[in-house]
Amino acid sequence: MENLKAIVIGAGMGGLATGIALRQAGYAVEMYDRVSELRPAGAGISLWSNGVKVLNRLGLGKDIAAIGGAMEQVAYYSNTGEKLTAFSLKPLVDRVGQAPYPVARTELQGMLLERFGAENVQLQSKCVAIEQDDHSVTAIFENGHKATGDVLVAADGTHSMIRPYVIGQPIERRYVGYVNWNGLVPASEDLAPKNSWDVYVGEHKRASMMPVGGDRFYFFFDVPLPKGTAAGDHREDLSGFFDGWPAPVRRLIDRLDPAKTNRVEIHDIEPLQTLVRGRVALLGDAAHSTAPDLGQGGCQAMEDALVLVNFLQTTNLSVEDALQRYEAARVDRVADVITRARKRSNMTHGKEPEKPSSGMKN
Ligand SMILES: Cc1cc2nc3c(=O)[nH]c(=O)nc-3n(C[C@H](O)[C@H](O)[C@H](O)COP(=O)(O)OP(=O)(O)OC[C@H]3O[C@@H](n4cnc5c(N)ncnc54)[C@H](O)[C@@H]3O)c2cc1C
Repeated sequence: MENLKAIVIGAGMGGLATGIALRQAGYAVEMYDRVSELRPAGAGISLWSNGVKVLNRLGLGKDIAAIGGAMEQVAYYSNTGEKLTAFSLKPLVDRVGQAPYPVARTELQGMLLERFGAENVQLQSKCVAIEQDDHSVTAIFENGHKATGDVLVAADGTHSMIRPYVIGQPIERRYVGYVNWNGLVPASEDLAPKNSWDVYVGEHKRASMMPVGGDRFYFFFDVPLPKGTAAGDHREDLSGFFDGWPAPVRRLIDRLDPAKTNRVEIHDIEPLQTLVRGRVALLGDAAHSTAPDLGQGGCQAMEDALVLVNFLQTTNLSVEDALQRYEAARVDRVADVITRARKRSNMTHGKEPEKPSSGMKN
């Protein structure tokens, strides 16, 4: 279809990737976000090869390579310091044709914003309602503004306000059962080799470091805890949870900056059967919030963006028809990611204790 006008709600990685792809398809794009300043939640993210390939397709291949970490191998250790396994990522890269890139989230967002044009995102614009008819769709904002277009992309994240409108009912997010702390520290060989993703596992907990650009490690810790457990000082809490763990883990806890460390209770949502309603498409976490245990939430948002824009561009029956095709192409794929990530989490974090505690994450 030609000459469409798209309204995108949410300027996270899903919304921005979609905005860039829509623009490249020649569509007019209006993007809105409720915040007054765009700041990504979380310190780092690993973009696996499928996510990086979307960025390549959007013409951002060199940019992502410049901010990505050189992660060439993976090593697992037990909480008593025994090496469990170590392997090169080269066979994976050779097979799929693209390296994965762990990146700092502020740099990923900066890259996407620069390409889309930060000045093109309308901030302080909280979408509160949607209306549509046979010819157009309108987003209504808390500040009274209305935006009308041919298609609306709901990339408004895990707490999506538009999700209930699309699926016809509100849904509760599910607590996956563990708390994650994450941040960035200067890379150092006494923490981990600078080309390695090192993971320490035991007692259903995990401590991990992976290289990102700028000679830093993105670190994260996972600890199974009851929902609502009060947070103390992050260093003190982590020192207690990882008392007696190998020296690199204790060093990491000494070096992290508690004020710049994030703490998040991990949730997902039940896989959805419906991703679209008329001219409105859910995308990214709004469509499929997943536990991060496969490192696929953001990568799936990237895939969504490309698939959605591809159907808009290559089919021409109607916008509604293109969105139905998007739903059909994505619904099983994203449900599978949610289900497998939950399984992996249950195994790693002790909800299926008969299975070994291992697995890839973030
Ligand atoms: C600890 C952790 C680790 C992770 N690790 C990885 C990983 O390694 N690899 C990976 O691929 N994924 C990972 N993920 C998942 C990834 O972070 C998400 O899938 C991704 O950020 C989702 O992007 P999004 O654009 O859909 O949503 P968001 O980034 O949440 O963006 C939503 C945007 O919508 C705006 N918004 C919300 N409501 C409204 C409204 N009503 N009106 C206007 N604007 C609104 C928000 O302000 C926000 O800017 C991880 C997640 C967590 C929690």
